[in-house]
Amino acid sequence: AAKYGCPADSLALGRGTWRLLHTMAAYYPDQPSSQQQQDMRSFITLFSKFYPCPPCAEDFREWLKTNTPKVDSRSGLSQWFCEAHNEVNKKLQKPLFDCKRINERWLDGWADGSCD
Ligand code: FAD
Repeated sequence: AAKYGCPADSLALGRGTWRLLHTMAAYYPDQPSSQQQQDMRSFITLFSKFYPCPPCAEDFREWLKTNTPKVDSRSGLSQWFCEAHNEVNKKLQKPLFDCKRINERWLDGWADGSCD
């Protein structure tokens, strides 16, 4: 298994970034104001320009063109990031995550107390 590098390598960076993105979506408002929706759209656009793995960011920007961020609710945004992550999983030939279970993984925690 890859060790956590210092500075971050692309695995540690990816893992940490998904952790932030899924957690941010899990705590996004159920009914975001139009300002919050606009800000989240901007965050995603800017994130896609500066994510410090150029080929990753480029593919993500390409995916964004046909997958408009669902910023209208917490559950919409959570599902959207889950789909974005599954797109990368597919590319890397990793198992796809069941997006119905997003809250168990990133908000409430698995019933058995495990973490992953
Ligand atoms: P990760 O994929 O980092 O996942 C961490 C945890 O998230 C998993 O253990 C699981 O519990 C949970 N999880 C898995 N799938 C989902 C899902 N769909 N929804 C919610 N939770 C989930 N790496 C590359 O090599 N090439 C790329 O082009 C590339 N593009 C990336 C683009 C972005 C925007 C980001 C943030 C990362 C990208 N990465 C890319 C990194 C890659 O996605 C992984 O983070 C990295 O390979 C480490 O994988 P991991 O096995 O630790 O699990």
